[in-house]
This record gives sequence, structure tokens and C-alpha cells, in this order.
Amino acid sequence: MALIDGARLLADLHSLRDFGRFKTGVHRPTLSDQDIASRRWLASRLEAAGLEARIDGIASVYGFTRNAGKRLLIGSHLESQNESGWLDGALGVMFGLEVARALPHLPIDVAAWVDEEGHYGNFLGARSFLGEVTDSEIDAAANRTTRESMRDGLARAGLAGVPRVTLDDADRYVGYLEAHIEQGDELEAKGLGIGVVTSIVGIWNFRIRFEGVQNHAGTTRMAIRKDARVAMTRLANRIDDTFPSVIAERSVWTIGRMSLDPNAPSIVPGGAEMNVQFRDADPAVLDRLEAHLRSLVAEADAAGPCRVSIAVAAKTIPKVMDGGFQDALAAAAGHRAPGSWQRMPSGAGHDAQMLALRMKAGMLFVPSIGGISHHWTEDTKEEDIVRGCTVLADAAEAILSQS
Ligand SMILES: [Zn+2]
Repeated sequence: MALIDGARLLADLHSLRDFGRFKTGVHRPTLSDQDIASRRWLASRLEAAGLEARIDGIASVYGFTRNAGKRLLIGSHLESQNESGWLDGALGVMFGLEVARALPHLPIDVAAWVDEEGHYGNFLGARSFLGEVTDSEIDAAANRTTRESMRDGLARAGLAGVPRVTLDDADRYVGYLEAHIEQGDELEAKGLGIGVVTSIVGIWNFRIRFEGVQNHAGTTRMAIRKDARVAMTRLANRIDDTFPSVIAERSVWTIGRMSLDPNAPSIVPGGAEMNVQFRDADPAVLDRLEAHLRSLVAEADAAGPCRVSIAVAAKTIPKVMDGGFQDALAAAAGHRAPGSWQRMPSGAGHDAQMLALRMKAGMLFVPSIGGISHHWTEDTKEEDIVRGCTVLADAAEAILSQS
């Protein structure tokens, strides 16, 4: 059984928290000066742990084992959302470092995938490792807040012209493990300390467009209006009223964006658009929700007076975590946290869903106090952090001994 050093783990997590500290959280967006400094710090910690550290040409940080044998990759991300929490991503990277230190004789690589949080793109570090990011995608990427180009950011980090690390041979790896804070309140509500992730939800987004007639808000009689806003709010209410009867236990839906055209106080809106998103881990449930949404749209279109149309905006498919990895995590949790763990899907996206495209992948959750994340008050109890890392280390050791 692996023996991690809880005090060392917590000390490193708190050191990392100092890069971009914001209230009790951090503000450490991708390629900000504080983010770059945290990457250099991580590289030095990886070197000190006996790993061969490298920051590649897209700013992902790697610690490569010097041990022989088929490797286990453990990682997550270093950057944060803007003015956000100190554990989202950071926890999984520090767990990787601590597990590598606790099992120095085993072939364990550690990775901090750049930009999981999407300041420049979509899972850029993990996708780059898989060979799915072209140079032109990086050329075109710009920070969504500061508008600085990614190339300028990389140059500021001293990484211009540095080659990227790519997975040339997936057979080199037994697979990938990632630990993360739950970012929801399920574990805490049930009084549990560990979640073994079964799958990462699919996220389906639809753009629904309403075409009415733009007109004068004072002279256009109510009876003849074709008000796109009215059509949009009616359909939004139909969705909220009827989705509860078609969803599964953990499905969620969100209408997070609405817009009106022209969006003026004295004009009857001629156009409107909303984004409808839903998430579930079961493809059959996602299909059922889409069919239901499409039937509501057809109903609204037929009822008039506005035309209503639907288009797919983006879909990610659910990713099932490897059964053997789940069992290894479950066995470790059963030993270290008896009666205090459960299997559960992840409602948020993670780097593991990308790695799962090319190798076996597994994930472990620790509780989030109050279910709060993507906010500077995000936190987890120290005993939950230490126990989570212990479970991950035991599972890593078991996976490598079986391979
Ligand atoms: Zn994260």
C-alpha cells in the first residue's frame, strides 16, 4: 500500500495557491504572468521529485518518470477560471506529484494540461498531447478576456518555437488517472468522502431561433403582432414545465443565453435566439431529451405566429471511464474510506474525457464544501484532500501491479 505524505501534499497545494491569490481563491488564467510562474514552480517540484520536467510549446507541464515499464499518467490542470477557486485542477496536479513521490519506484508520469478552463480554446493541452491541435489553431487562438493572441502569450512565457509533447505511442501508457473536486454537493449531502467516476456527461447545446416581425411598440396592435420575444419565453416556459417528466435522475438543463433583435425598448422584437443545453451520462437519455425538445419546437412553430427553428450548436458524447480503473479506485476507496464512497457520473467536463479517447481513463472525486466551485470560496476539508490522494495512490499502485 502506498504511503503518501499528507503534510507535504497540503504544503504544496498552499504554495500553489500563492500564484495569483484572490481572496481565499486564485485568479490564474492561462498564460497570465502568475500562471506562467506557477508552471515554472511545478516544473521545479517535479524535478525535485526525481522526474524529468518539461514545459512544452503549448505550456503544458510534464514530469516524466525515469523508471522503466509501461507508464501510468496522472494529471489535471493548473490554470483557474477568472477570480475562482484554488482547488479546481490544482488538486489533481498536486495529487499526481504526491503519488509519484509516494511510489518512486513505479513508472508514473505527471501532466498539467494547459487551458482546460478554455481561456483560449477547447481542452488545448490535452488535445495537443493527442495530436489533435494544429499550429494554425494555436495561431488563431486569442484570450477570450484580454484578446491577447496565444502566440504572444507563449512568447511571453519564453515558449516560442519550443516543440510540443505529443502521444506518439499510446501503448507506452497503462492509462490515465485524474482526481478532481466534485464541484457539486452530492458527496457532501450524502456524507461521503470519495466519488469513483463512472462516466463524464455528454453536453448537448441547441440554438433555437424565432422569426417574427419587427415593428413599432406604440402603434402595432397586440392582435397583429408577431413578437419573437413572446414566442421565445413561451417555449422556454414549456421546456421548464415539461422537461421534469422526460429527464433521468441526474439530468440537468439550462437556458443560459437569450438574445433579442434588435433589443430596444420601443421596438417589437422581430428576432430572438436562445441556447438550450442539457447534460446526462446516458446517450439514450440525451436522445430522448433531444426528441422532446424538437417536438416542443415543432409544436411552437405550428402554433405560430412566429417561425421557430432549431439547430445543433455543439454536442460532446458521454465518456465512460474504464471498468478496471473504476474497480481499482473502488477497491482502494473501500479500504481507505469504508462506507464513505460511491460511484457517480461527472456533471462537468474534464481533461480525462479527452485522454479517454486514446487510453484507459479513470477519475476520482473529493467533496466540495457546499457544492461551490468556479468561485473564490471553493474549498474542501483537509482530511478529504489527504484521504482522496491516499485512495488515488493505492489505485495507481494496484493498476501498475496488474499491468
Ligand atoms: Zn477543473
